[in-house]
Amino acid sequence: MSLNEITTRITAAEVAAGRAAGSVSLIAVSKVQPNERVKSVLDQGQRVFGENRIQEAAGKWPEFRTQYDGIELHLIGPLQTNKARQAMELCDAIHSLDRPKLANTLARLAQERGACPDLFIQVNTGEEPQKAGILPAESDKFIKECQSLDLSIRGLMCIPPVEEEPSLHFALLAKIAKRNGLDGLSMGMSSDFESAIALGATHVRVGSAIFGERVVS
Ligand SMILES: *Cc1c(COP(=O)(O)O)cnc(C)c1O
Repeated sequence: MSLNEITTRITAAEVAAGRAAGSVSLIAVSKVQPNERVKSVLDQGQRVFGENRIQEAAGKWPEFRTQYDGIELHLIGPLQTNKARQAMELCDAIHSLDRPKLANTLARLAQERGACPDLFIQVNTGEEPQKAGILPAESDKFIKECQSLDLSIRGLMCIPPVEEEPSLHFALLAKIAKRNGLDGLSMGMSSDFESAIALGATHVRVGSAIFGERVVS
């Protein structure tokens, strides 16, 4: 599939949901993709990208930023506290704020830098033990905790369990966001971004449908 097809499908989903065309931000997930594929998508005009590992992001995006204007980089994978500073320097948004220790570190660095990327709190909507994210039952408390640290929370993020109907998880995430007065929703990937948009996604994270299957070396 091409970038063009995906943006067309996003617009159709926005309109079908009675939402303004262009209200959903497409994050092109470029992790593990060869640089030529990323360049080709940059050349087609895409400027918002997602990476799940800070090391990999540091290896490729500073160079692309010197070649293309207006790049916006989103960290969508787990963040270790000792990489928080690097993540803040490199990224415009972090979608994986998932524990008090990381919130404290980000708050301290934000004070020090006088700036902070957009932050999304990751919620483990499927309550999967191996998956990152704050549990739904603890999310209201954690959101308030982050806000009391003066972190400006853009919204919530989830990755539904692979075996389950994703729309149930999207609806749960939307409900938690709404009762906490948050309007950013980072949800929906290649196979389910249209249903995420129907349920209020503001940011969809689409990788393989744009770039092709990831080549695992
Ligand atoms: C890899 C990844 C995506 C993109 O997945 P696709 O199925 O390739 O669209 C989205 N979100 C996260 C957190 C990811 O790690």
